[in-house]
Amino acid sequence: MSSIVPGSGKVLKHAKLVLIFWGAGWARSPVISAEELAGVFSAILATPYMAKMAQYNGICNATIIHMALDTSKEFTEQYHNTPVFHSSELPQMIAGHIDGDGAVPAPSIDPDLLYIVISELSVVCRETADPPVEAAGLHDKFDHNGARFHYAWVSNDGSLTSGNMIPKEFVHELVEACSDPDLDSFHVSDDNEIGDKCNGELVTMPKIRTPNAPDGIVIQSYFSALDNACVLPTEYSLKFWAKATQKNLGGGLRKFLPQGGSVRSLLACGNIPPPAGFGIVVSHQNDQLGGELIVEGTHFTPGGRAFISINYIPTRTVSVQRNAYVKSDGTFRFAEEFKFVSTNPQDAAIGVWVTAIDVATGNLVSEETSASIWVS
Ligand SMILES: [Zn+2]
Repeated sequence: MSSIVPGSGKVLKHAKLVLIFWGAGWARSPVISAEELAGVFSAILATPYMAKMAQYNGICNATIIHMALDTSKEFTEQYHNTPVFHSSELPQMIAGHIDGDGAVPAPSIDPDLLYIVISELSVVCRETADPPVEAAGLHDKFDHNGARFHYAWVSNDGSLTSGNMIPKEFVHELVEACSDPDLDSFHVSDDNEIGDKCNGELVTMPKIRTPNAPDGIVIQSYFSALDNACVLPTEYSLKFWAKATQKNLGGGLRKFLPQGGSVRSLLACGNIPPPAGFGIVVSHQNDQLGGELIVEGTHFTPGGRAFISINYIPTRTVSVQRNAYVKSDGTFRFAEEFKFVSTNPQDAAIGVWVTAIDVATGNLVSEETSASIWVS
């Protein structure tokens, strides 16, 4: 695998997506509607898919902030019997809305705005398709009225699961536009970007189902320099986040999440509250061997996994990581015998911090318990 060149390093740290469904065809009851696609895109963004983008100057999860339909365009020009548009039409159309009807917000509301244009069925860009059998996508930038615009075009081959499936084109352009918005930032040394390196690495998302993708949509992975591999994160990894953002987790998680919260929040650059009832109860029972530490969780993801981190830092640093499997009712119970011998009274003075992470959602909770089990 080739290595990633950082270039200028400019990224869209927290991309705010403005979806523009472009073409009169969107008003003619297409098999895959704009609403269905918007639902698919938000479902992708609700997963940890972008979690490993943190390594590219701290990119966080993107969010959709606006959706617009522009059905004024009829694609009358043909090339090899395929309707085409010219790449110059994309900036014209976006700028036209800014100057004209205000149907889409301007970049002045947020420097990380990213316009994603999804064209109607079968339309391709004349400049990138020759012959136009391979509909694909592109991302680029332009300046207008003193503002920098970042945008992408996502082609529409009418499928969520095969060919150049729309969700795949969406994630491809999304990760590239975020990591290389001005075409001078993160790219692979042979002049590809992080999506191009993994173009053929397709993965079904069985949990994202729609009428047109009953077994799940298909997307692609992206290149992770830290893994030197194509990745498609399905879990939030605190360890990876710390490595990617050069944070030291040695002192525990509390300094990053003083009020508790979620790893997903760290990665999304915003607070996403965990579900009601989500939490752990920590207890312990002293015995001749030392003590048993018990952690019981509620409202975790059924069938998922809880990552438990046990930290103790008075005169020594103790850091223990464990996993527990969550039952179908969303609870788990973890119990383990611990003993640390110490004659230093300080060792009993401070509590033991137990942090549990629901790895499916990234929700995190911390509780303290007496250190007496550690010290005898
Ligand atoms: Zn690409």
